[in-house]
Amino acid sequence: RLYCTNEINRAQSAKRNRPMVTIFEQIIKREIPADIVYEDEKCLAFKDVNPQAPTHLLLIPKKRIPMISDAVDSDQELLGYLMLIARRLANERLQKGYRLVINNGPDGCQSVYHLHIHILGGRQLGWPPG
Ligand code: C5P
Repeated sequence: RLYCTNEINRAQSAKRNRPMVTIFEQIIKREIPADIVYEDEKCLAFKDVNPQAPTHLLLIPKKRIPMISDAVDSDQELLGYLMLIARRLANERLQKGYRLVINNGPDGCQSVYHLHIHILGGRQLGWPPG
């Protein structure tokens, strides 16, 4: 609960302080460390530093799309590609089920403005999400 409040605070302040270079771009360039589990020419996946489930990966495009609401028609192929890679990473690890999540904007609890798909699983997930 406390964590959730902090996460909401982070999300509510993130947009105002939206940096030009996000922490995820720094991870792509290997300027800061991350536990990377997959990489190809279009995307990168790594373990979330603050996991919300036994398995919690983040899958990001190398192209800078700040949020899903910024995606344009020409991103169609990349977005489909990301879904298929997310499916592959999740299927390999989470045979009993999983959830793919995209948070968008302050009310969506987005705190990093580089598009990312959360891959969550390894426990019984609840519904609805908070
Ligand atoms: O969807 P949202 O923007 O809230 O998700 C950002 C996620 O990035 C959080 O789950 C946070 O734990 C994670 N993160 C990370 N490594 C960082 C900074 C944030 O895994 N260096």
